[in-house]
Amino acid sequence: MPEVDRREVAQVELGSDGFQLMFGDGERIKSRRVVVAAGIAPFASRPEPLRNLPRELVSHSSEERDLSRFAGKEVAVVGAGQSALESAALLSEAGAKVQLFVRCPLVHWLWQRPLLHKWPIKPILYAPPDVGPAFISQIVARPNWYRRMRRGWQDKWGIRSIRPAGAGWLKPRVDNVSNVSIVTGRSITSAAPVGGRLALKLDDGSERTVDHVLTGTGYRVDISRYAFLGRKLLASIRHVDGYPQLDAGFQSSVPGLHFLGAPAAWSFGPLMRFVAGAEFASRALARAVAENN
Ligand SMILES: Cc1cc2nc3c(=O)[nH]c(=O)nc-3n(C[C@H](O)[C@H](O)[C@H](O)COP(=O)(O)OP(=O)(O)OC[C@H]3O[C@@H](n4cnc5c(N)ncnc54)[C@H](O)[C@@H]3O)c2cc1C
Repeated sequence: MPEVDRREVAQVELGSDGFQLMFGDGERIKSRRVVVAAGIAPFASRPEPLRNLPRELVSHSSEERDLSRFAGKEVAVVGAGQSALESAALLSEAGAKVQLFVRCPLVHWLWQRPLLHKWPIKPILYAPPDVGPAFISQIVARPNWYRRMRRGWQDKWGIRSIRPAGAGWLKPRVDNVSNVSIVTGRSITSAAPVGGRLALKLDDGSERTVDHVLTGTGYRVDISRYAFLGRKLLASIRHVDGYPQLDAGFQSSVPGLHFLGAPAAWSFGPLMRFVAGAEFASRALARAVAENN
């Protein structure tokens, strides 16, 4: 890649002949085609009672780099996936007292059953990207098959393939330590700042006070949260639940505007949320661009 422009793109808007892009420094350029591969940072999701609270009291796992600042503090962690479970382990190892709140009845840990992961059974049940459970993994690995399935199956398998779970190697670091307690089947219903701490109420009526809440509650794709997409452009993109509807070349309903990565998951399935999806996506995109230039 000889030419990489490292400036932030502040705005992309429909122009008279294609798109007009404005950089953070105010310079504008025109382009006939735009590929949005801007990641998931703006999609960080926080459950309702924990939104709009000061950053010193509530943060998302994506906002934390060094958990050692929580040494000696009481921290509530919310979630049941790798972000929440690994944050709980790292907080505990940094010397914090951790309460992990999981709304489902149990925490799922990922273990490979030896029998199912041996030749010749493994290649029948699981395709190499290894995203999704037995058999479904084969469909997930073939996004062009996936997008031809009935919508109901796509939605069901999409959720099943990325349900919250923790890697098996993490379990002893959360389970066998005295400073992590796991509360399952409970949700936080309200949170209020009290004297520099946070008073939490749970759905069973019980109360807790903690120094901080760390939400490991994942990401919810919603392209309207890409601040650089201009209003006129955004209004022209056909979308479902925040995901753009894409054709075989990852092109949205606006000709020349493509989306890669997690926003492509509604059209091409859960593989698009992983690095392993990049090979399929980049080839399909390159083919479509070459054919239409
Ligand atoms: C906790 C976690 C664990 C994961 N673990 C795995 C794993 O084990 N295996 C796996 O395959 N995948 C994993 N993933 C997913 C993987 O990280 C993503 O699939 C991959 O990073 C997506 O690549 P991307 O290029 O779409 O987005 P990103 O890697 O997020 O890149 C987006 C880029 O766009 C830039 N950008 C954004 N907005 C602008 C703008 N306005 N102007 C200019 N540049 C901009 C950003 O600076 C960034 O460089 C994980 C994700 C998370 C959150």
